[in-house]
Amino acid sequence: RAKGEGRNRYCFFEPEMGTKIHARRTLELELRKAVEMGDLELYYQPQVESGSRQIAGFEALIRWHHKERGDIPPEEFISVAEDSGLITEIGRWVLEQACLEAMSWPDSIQVAVNVSPVQFRSAKALLSDVRSALLLSGLPAHRLELEITEGILMQDTAANLELLDSLRRMGVHIAMDDFGTGYSSLGYIRRFCFDRIKIDRSFINDVTTSKDSQAVVQAVCGLCSTLGIQTVAEGVENEQQLQFLFDEGCSLIQGYYIARPMAVADLQRLIVDWTAAL
Ligand code: C2E
Ligand code: MG
Ligand code: MG
Ligand code: MG
Repeated sequence: RAKGEGRNRYCFFEPEMGTKIHARRTLELELRKAVEMGDLELYYQPQVESGSRQIAGFEALIRWHHKERGDIPPEEFISVAEDSGLITEIGRWVLEQACLEAMSWPDSIQVAVNVSPVQFRSAKALLSDVRSALLLSGLPAHRLELEITEGILMQDTAANLELLDSLRRMGVHIAMDDFGTGYSSLGYIRRFCFDRIKIDRSFINDVTTSKDSQAVVQAVCGLCSTLGIQTVAEGVENEQQLQFLFDEGCSLIQGYYIARPMAVADLQRLIVDWTAAL
């Protein structure tokens, strides 16, 4: 941006950069307060089996209700939490809260929790946070699924394999989130023995119109079903997408077409109504 701007040519620290840094710093301080004040909340979005349409699980999605600015989306504050180290504390709270809340759902329904790459890099802390969330809540390990993004696996393969292995030995499930957005190949699916692969929303979004997205979805669903790994489609918004995914053998469906993420207070009703309608 500085390039070709005449007299500003040598100024690579632009005023608006200072403003941006300041805004992030303010957000960080407010987030710290929000953690203390309990202004964070978990919403849950159902994942249903594509054939039977039974609810298999809920993904926990964090919400920040800001007193003055209303709801701030996780895309805006998770990176601030990661840069400031606050994510450790937030991540621990998310794990605990999600496991506790899952205890009041039917045994057949699991809970999926997003884990930041920053948490994943502190293997010991993550293992101990997962263990205490399970102990504290009494949730059986097999009802907890951790969602990690493919970026995590880029470096440090041996250490990553070991951490995934330790988590799996505890009995928790591991899903790869946003598959297809990073650099990982289909080979990763096999190497890291994921329980589930979540196909990124961008492919689902145009799966009924784009040949490329169709090819990706077909390849992932085909390979995963051969390997006995479940596939989850995220961001399913209509019946045509659902039908395509079902035909390709995609195991689970998540998206606004089924339900939007909702407050925990609304879940019992959803479970009852949904099950009654099947
Ligand atoms: P994600 O894990 O890939 O979560 C899926 C996102 O897609 C959620 O956005 C969800 O609300 C949205 N979504 C679901 N169905 C549809 C649909 O049909 N259409 C569209 N357009 N969107 C849909 P959300 O809740 O804003 O979260 C965004 C991201 O923030 C998450 O992406 C995840 O990476 C991160 N995040 C959320 N909660 C946590 C958390 O507790 N910890 C960490 N580390 N990250 C979190
Ligand atoms: Mg996720
Ligand atoms: Mg995702
Ligand atoms: Mg995504």
